[in-house]
Amino acid sequence: MDKTSVSYCIDPDWLPYEAIRNNQHVGMSADYMMYIGVLADINFMLVKTKTWSETLAKLQTGECQVASMLNASPEREKYLLFTRPFFVGANVLVSDSEQGFLQGYENIGEQMLGTVSNYRQAEYVKNYYPNIKLKLVETELAGLKSLASGEIDLFVGSLLSINAQIQKSGFSNLRIAGIAEPQDMLGMGVAGNDTELLARLNDAIAQLPEWVHVDIYKQWNNVRVIDEIDTRYIWGAAGIIFCLVIVGIWRQIIVRRYNNALLAKNTQLQALQNELVDKNQRLEFISIRDPLTAMFNRHFMQERLEQEKQASLRNNTAVCLILIDIDFFKAVNDQHGHSVGDTVLQQVAQIVHSTIREMDVAARWGGEEFVVLCPNSALDDAIQLATRLRDTISQFMFSKVGHITCSFGVAQNKETESFREWFDRADKALYQAKDGGRDAIFTAK
Ligand code: GH3
Ligand code: MG
Ligand code: MG
Repeated sequence: MDKTSVSYCIDPDWLPYEAIRNNQHVGMSADYMMYIGVLADINFMLVKTKTWSETLAKLQTGECQVASMLNASPEREKYLLFTRPFFVGANVLVSDSEQGFLQGYENIGEQMLGTVSNYRQAEYVKNYYPNIKLKLVETELAGLKSLASGEIDLFVGSLLSINAQIQKSGFSNLRIAGIAEPQDMLGMGVAGNDTELLARLNDAIAQLPEWVHVDIYKQWNNVRVIDEIDTRYIWGAAGIIFCLVIVGIWRQIIVRRYNNALLAKNTQLQALQNELVDKNQRLEFISIRDPLTAMFNRHFMQERLEQEKQASLRNNTAVCLILIDIDFFKAVNDQHGHSVGDTVLQQVAQIVHSTIREMDVAARWGGEEFVVLCPNSALDDAIQLATRLRDTISQFMFSKVGHITCSFGVAQNKETESFREWFDRADKALYQAKDGGRDAIFTAK
């Protein structure tokens, strides 16, 4: 048989079954026709149409010899012959997400059903379910829009194209509520009562191997249940975000609480540290000072004397020591009372303090006795200082007591002697001053 040219029409907007995109025939029927054309040795020529109604009109006039992929129906049989079907697929009822499962047309009741005019389902419902309220729309997309907006309650169409539309247009609140009979038995339609062409096509369809059906189905079948998956994703994502937000807030609260507690503890610690430093300073003060006169005490002075003696040996410098004893102090206590005696001790301490040089160190040795250590000082320097002290004290008017005097013993350290020997020499000089009539300065040999 010669290679024949045959014109054909398709539904221009019925993916994945078929459509015209960029002036090309695409979809499952395009693939089928390629194989059928080869097997039947036919050169198929597309006659483009804009709507399915236009396609049917062109088939009636014979402008199109063949319809690529459609169901047989009594109405269509008036002007078309039908090949054996090469694709069988489900028709489905689509609803909004509120609708329960529908077992076919029986349960539709008063609800408004939409379908595309001139589709086989429209004819089928009118014939077999005349009580169903039917609304005819131009395309499946228009029908799904009507459904989404609540204009109609249900829509019936082919499973694959309905799902493609729902996915493409994002009708996430629509879902498939049930299967509608009859199922799609899609074959080719032949116009003009051309039985010869029908036979050639049937022959070719019969020869289609199974892998062709499987390949075409796999390539074009992208059915997925959008409603459930989307909801799950949205809820899943929302759940994760919610959990992250809660964890974030919780962490923030814990961190803030922890920081506040830490801050409070740090403040407490700082206060304790300040207190400790203060206490330590007091302790140190108490441990080295005489409480009555606030002068260094005997313990501190003993250490300083030792240190200065060592330093003078190391540096080969002179160091002197002056012992001071208030004359007839017992009489002061006896005549004026012990507290007046205390005041005299404090005033003597002040005079000593303000008279000595910066490098000198003064201490209360005990009772009414004081010691002045003079580092880096030769005997003459120490005698000069002792003289200044004696003069200042003897000229000072002590409260309630009037004038008092002091006796002084001065000794320069010798390299060979011990600390004790050095101190004893100063003490001896002091006694000599007492013996000599008091208010005097004696120097140790
Ligand atoms: P002298 O000239 O020989 O040193 O005679 P003195 O009376 O000063 O010496 P003495 O050792 O006989 O007396 C010292 C007195 O100092 C005896 C004691 O009651 C008094 N005294 C010692 N410590 C204190 C003190 O802290 N406060 C008072 N008010 N008196 C004290
Ligand atoms: Mg004394
Ligand atoms: Mg005395």
